[in-house]
Amino acid sequence: MINAADEQKMQFMFALRSKGVMDKRVLEVMEKIDRAPFIRGLFSERAYEDMPLPIPCGQTISQPSIVGLMTQALNPQPRDKVLEVGTGSGYQAAILSQLTRRVYTVDRHSRLVKEAKAVFDEMGIVNITAFTADGSHGLTDQAPFDRIILTAAAEDPPGPLLAQLKIGGIMVVPVGQSDAVQSLIKVSRTEQGFDYEELCPVRFVPLLEGLGQE
Ligand code: SAH
Repeated sequence: MINAADEQKMQFMFALRSKGVMDKRVLEVMEKIDRAPFIRGLFSERAYEDMPLPIPCGQTISQPSIVGLMTQALNPQPRDKVLEVGTGSGYQAAILSQLTRRVYTVDRHSRLVKEAKAVFDEMGIVNITAFTADGSHGLTDQAPFDRIILTAAAEDPPGPLLAQLKIGGIMVVPVGQSDAVQSLIKVSRTEQGFDYEELCPVRFVPLLEGLGQE
């Protein structure tokens, strides 16, 4: 017998595959890490729909297939040190934590960081360091990073973050105006410089300067 929860999970996994998430490791982790705990309140019932959903501070938890595509593009490796700018609910960081050695994640809203940390603790995830900061300048103390992911849209890949990417490293970033359709860009750092690849159209909240009010 297939119960309703199994059926929801099957549809969730089907949506990921049909939108182009092919990487077996990414699919395995997304099957394992429950999205519902990252969405408090009313909307948690809709956690297995392939939809962005509202979280506090006027922000959104990304659409699962976009989380899958971004994680796949980042091609995370087990020994990698990763920086995520835009903790939000913590869901993307939790996915990355299962595929890498350590994830540093920052958000400009302290409330979101606090709530995300509580979920990491509940889930027994110990390799995420989350704190409140304006991530557009990166994290000088921990740089350089093997992988950098931004989950808020920038007008261009921020210079300080490009500088904190190791040679051989990968950055995934939504680029464009916040009120328009943006492009997801994969930046690879080589010995010679940076290679840019445009992946797909996306829509993210803007990367803002400074700290949020709560
Ligand atoms: N990755 C999240 C979704 C993030 S939504 C998840 O899995 O749920 C984008 C987040 O980026 C918001 O929480 C917003 O507060 C944050 N943000 C925007 N500009 C920022 C900045 N300069 N530094 C850090 N966080 C920022």
